[in-house]
Amino acid sequence: MNPEALTVVLDGQWAELRREVRKQLSENAYDEPRDLSTEDYRVWVLDQLHKLAKTGQPRLGFAREYGGGGDIGGSVVSFELLGLGDLSLMVKSGVQWGLFGGAVQLLGTKQHHERYLSRIMDLDLPGCFAMTETGHGSDVQHLRTTATYDPETRQFVIDTPDPSARKDYIGNAARDGRMAVVFAQLVTGGESRGVHAFLVPIRNELGEPLPGVEIGDCGRKGGLNGVDNGRLTFRSVRVPREALLNRYGDVAEDGTYSSPIESDGRRFFTMLGTLIRGRISVAGAATSAAERALALAVRYGEQRRQFNAPGDAEEVVVLDYRAHQRKLLPAIAKTYALHFAQEELVRKLHEIQSAEEEVDEHSQRELESRAAGIKAMATWHATKTIQTAREACGGAGYLAANVLTVLKADTDVFTTFEGDNTVLLQLVAKGLLTNYRDHFSDLSPLAMARFVAEQVVETVIERTAARKVIERLVDAAPGRDDDGVLFDRGWQVALFEDREKHVLEGCARRLRRAAEGDPFEAFNDAQDHVLSAARVHVDRVVLEAFVAAIERCEDDEARGVLNQLCDLYVLSNLEEDRAWFLEHGRLTASRAKSVIAAVNELCAKLRPDARLLVDAFAIPEPFLRAEMLG
Ligand SMILES: Cc1cc2nc3c(=O)[nH]c(=O)nc-3n(C[C@H](O)[C@H](O)[C@H](O)COP(=O)(O)OP(=O)(O)OC[C@H]3O[C@@H](n4cnc5c(N)ncnc54)[C@H](O)[C@@H]3O)c2cc1C
Repeated sequence: MNPEALTVVLDGQWAELRREVRKQLSENAYDEPRDLSTEDYRVWVLDQLHKLAKTGQPRLGFAREYGGGGDIGGSVVSFELLGLGDLSLMVKSGVQWGLFGGAVQLLGTKQHHERYLSRIMDLDLPGCFAMTETGHGSDVQHLRTTATYDPETRQFVIDTPDPSARKDYIGNAARDGRMAVVFAQLVTGGESRGVHAFLVPIRNELGEPLPGVEIGDCGRKGGLNGVDNGRLTFRSVRVPREALLNRYGDVAEDGTYSSPIESDGRRFFTMLGTLIRGRISVAGAATSAAERALALAVRYGEQRRQFNAPGDAEEVVVLDYRAHQRKLLPAIAKTYALHFAQEELVRKLHEIQSAEEEVDEHSQRELESRAAGIKAMATWHATKTIQTAREACGGAGYLAANVLTVLKADTDVFTTFEGDNTVLLQLVAKGLLTNYRDHFSDLSPLAMARFVAEQVVETVIERTAARKVIERLVDAAPGRDDDGVLFDRGWQVALFEDREKHVLEGCARRLRRAAEGDPFEAFNDAQDHVLSAARVHVDRVVLEAFVAAIERCEDDEARGVLNQLCDLYVLSNLEEDRAWFLEHGRLTASRAKSVIAAVNELCAKLRPDARLLVDAFAIPEPFLRAEMLG
């Protein structure tokens, strides 16, 4: 079978763009430079970034009227593909065009767009996104940097009131950034109006820090050393009134504050909600990196031989060992699943952010929730899969020349930046338990207390993809005792839905019962339950995306392979969560055992297709060059 039949399904809506970007990547081979000093690596990445700017790709996500491509989904997809190559370059481009440029576009207004977007797209104005502070990372609502309006001079004065308010880990800050979008508490007329974003120049044309701006370097990191992460401290730095990115809140010359959104908290979370593109892009890049790791490991596993089978002169290819198949094939299945879920997510993002009319709040929050959930699961999956791929290549996997250790170091922090995964999953659960009614991103004790008290009485499972197909499959699902039930898609979906509903309802009951005491304690005590509710929800959403992808597949042979792969995704998930299914009487002991046998059976069946499955990722050959592969 030709892998292209699978590639077509994986490529989805932006297939043509994917082909184009892959071609560009092969030709330019933005490949890893190895053994460079931190400074040389940073220089190399900046140089590549300029080359990337010339391709016009970074323009895709910006509005047409300013020279952009007006293709939001396409911009995420092209960013995702950068995840196949050097990840410092991917992250630095994400900082420049996704975070910095994205904030100017989405939080600014016409004056900012006209003045800056073109220079940002061309990389004529390198910038930073300065949100995190030393003292506050996950809880960004309580940042302490201040921007105080001075009506006399019509300027904002930006200040770092204490060391914990120093901006920290900021990409592009240590070396190359000229300007930063700084998130700070806006104060006018002596009153604080919550966190807003300001454009603050940080360096002059010669690259020297501007007066009042102190810049530090985070130094060598665990990975991503081509990115210059730094620290920013502001000492009474004055910027004009127009430096406020004023889409969601403005200050008049006399200092009067106005905003289309009354509540400070709601305004802030609306602002954050518009910035989810970065989070979605990181999820996609994590999956690209996992795909690359799997492609390397399968190629190696097909050629590496160890031990003789009795009566066989030749040693056994390691991928013929069941244990080896169990390392790689379930990981491939889950990678396909997450790839399809990512594709659905990007489509949804594109639909919502390209809509001419305001989108209803429920859809917006549902999108934010899905982005948070998929980002968490995809980045954790990448971390685990890259480690597995490294082990699957034995000692060879540990040599830098064979890429996997580099991938491991560079993707490690994906679980933390663009939202810490544990925090993100709590937001997912919160959205589900309140039916997206509450302020989505607010995890403060007060908000959590309100949340505990206000959960919806009945949880509803909202199907997210291929609704009609899934309904048909579930309706036709056989009862629990029928033979062959493990491989029935309707039964599988129904089982995932049932688990989600049960965990969510149990969580809601537990919180409500405990709410009579201290609501924060109640929430805190139930965090394990809250996190598993989010996890099983994402598992179900991911499965639906897989089902939808199979439905789209027009090639019979490819559909057959995808069906087996989907079975493997489901059954290895059941295998991992066997304890829950047994504890809750969803699987009998003998059926739980048959799940293990079914995973083995699927691994054996898919073994001959292992190479086909990773070839279908269509990773440009230059990124699959490794010493161990000859
Ligand atoms: C390489 C790198 C690049 C970065 N680039 C940028 C950038 O360009 N711009 C920018 O603004 N920021 C950037 N960041 C910052 C990044 O976004 C933060 O590190 C991240 O948001 C987490 O914040 P934190 O480090 O303060 O961790 P914390 O929030 O302190 O989390 C520490 C631990 O506490 C746990 N925890 C926190 N709150 C809860 C809770 N409510 N319940 C349970 N557990 C909890 C977390 O799960 C985590 O395990 C970058 C960071 C790194 C490492």
